[in-house]
Amino acid sequence: MAQNEDNLLKKIAGHAKEYGFIFPSSEIYDGLNAAYDYGQNGVELKNNIKQYWWKAMVQMNENIVGLDSSIFMHPTTWKASGHVDAFNDPMIDNKDSKKRYRADVLIEDYLDKVEAKINKEVTKAEKRFGDAFDKAEFLKTNPNVLRNQSKIDSINERMGKGFENGDLEDIKALIEELEIACPVSGTKNWTDVRQFNLMFSTEMGSVAEDSNKIYLRPETAQGIFVNFLNVQKTGRMKIPFGIAQIGKAFRNEIIARQFIFRMREFEQMEMQFFVKPGEEMQWYENWKAKRIAWHNALGLGEKNYRFHDHVNLAHYANAAADIQFNFPMGFKELEGIHSRTDFDLKAHEEHSGKKLQFFDTVENKSYVPYVVEASIGLDRMFLAIMSSAFTEEILEDGSERTVLKIPAALAPYQVAVLPLLKKEESGLPAKAREILAELKIDFNCQYDEKDAIGKRYRRQDAIGTPYCVTVDHQTLEDNTVTIRDRDDLSQIRVSIDEVKGKLKETTSMESLLRKL
Ligand code: ATP
Repeated sequence: MAQNEDNLLKKIAGHAKEYGFIFPSSEIYDGLNAAYDYGQNGVELKNNIKQYWWKAMVQMNENIVGLDSSIFMHPTTWKASGHVDAFNDPMIDNKDSKKRYRADVLIEDYLDKVEAKINKEVTKAEKRFGDAFDKAEFLKTNPNVLRNQSKIDSINERMGKGFENGDLEDIKALIEELEIACPVSGTKNWTDVRQFNLMFSTEMGSVAEDSNKIYLRPETAQGIFVNFLNVQKTGRMKIPFGIAQIGKAFRNEIIARQFIFRMREFEQMEMQFFVKPGEEMQWYENWKAKRIAWHNALGLGEKNYRFHDHVNLAHYANAAADIQFNFPMGFKELEGIHSRTDFDLKAHEEHSGKKLQFFDTVENKSYVPYVVEASIGLDRMFLAIMSSAFTEEILEDGSERTVLKIPAALAPYQVAVLPLLKKEESGLPAKAREILAELKIDFNCQYDEKDAIGKRYRRQDAIGTPYCVTVDHQTLEDNTVTIRDRDDLSQIRVSIDEVKGKLKETTSMESLLRKL
């Protein structure tokens, strides 16, 4: 990670802590590696992201319903899903720094560098040729680009084969041939590559001999699969239909770092869409389009997203793509869209001995549906929003401010009500509270009367409140207030009756959902 990117992530983490968004877990005991707590402002933002997802996914789709399944599941679930045998990451240690890495990540970081060379070549040529530049042609013909692209392709192919065949020796050989060095020690003194299972296990039951090894779920999806028939039958669902849920998942990541990007306890928002076999590819494309539209409606910048097709497919998938986001440490996976075939339902049929099939009345036959899933990490979405929102600005008067330009509908608070003076005798606090009582029914509001007004504006900027309603002496005379805009700092004077309508236009969840 480049120095300034590292700094930006640190700055965001620092800001998140200082302003009550995210605290290190159990901080009074010096924290626990890669575990975080969401503070008073963080929980509001997180809840708003969940609501935006749930509304768009469940309540606005008549053929998708919700579920809240338990974290503990029968241990055979994880045998059937393949997690007991195959939910591994390949790890490798550097003998000098004693640091542990994921072997695939070391190779992918190397590939990113080769790709950066291609991008640099393109930027150079763009400058040189100006309007006449034909990018597609350039990528097809420039010898440097072609050489680097073929290098990427051959490394990808070899890595894919190595993992597919379980040939970890060749993965190590590849790391050595590419002369990948440990970023900490700078040496190439590596251990062998070993597989490491990512599931956390614990024991259920109070008597040791009767106890049963169970797992903390590493994904929420399996809770959906095992309930497939329950929901289908009781909800009288017809294919195609989806089941969605939001919940915690746990993975014993080899290296958990980069703030809330990679944690050992995190939250997923997953939707499994059950379709007729043979129709999965059209649904896969459909969900890719729908999900990117959901992201784009937020206005974090379309250029900050890109699709990344998987070259090495997981054991259960016949097509898979990630939606990557431009985080401070570069483009990384934010959401996965996977065509999971009938792998999971079939495996659960085999292991449970129960049929998990849908009776298609049109075709007059039963079949195991295929599944297309959209799976997004809530914490990663939180980080995507925080990193695109975090802005340090120098204002016209030369002063500096840090502002979180969070999409208005998702901000922890939509509005702050501020009496110009704190003194009760001025009549301003009473008037402000009257306005607050009315606004808090529709919006999440803050009330603040301490310190000079400029300082209070800054405090709201720092937590991303899109509007401040200020109550001054004129308010008492003519029932008008000022509304101050977080982003362009403009102030307009409106009558109190108009405030609600004005705020709703831009800050309501409805305004966001209407863009979909
Ligand atoms: P990665 O390659 O980054 O480990 P993955 O491909 O294993 O992720 P999936 O199994 O597809 O991830 O999980 C779906 C989503 O859950 C991811 O797109 C990501 O947003 C989120 N997620 C996965 N692992 C973590 C984690 N350790 N911490 C936070 N979010 C995670």
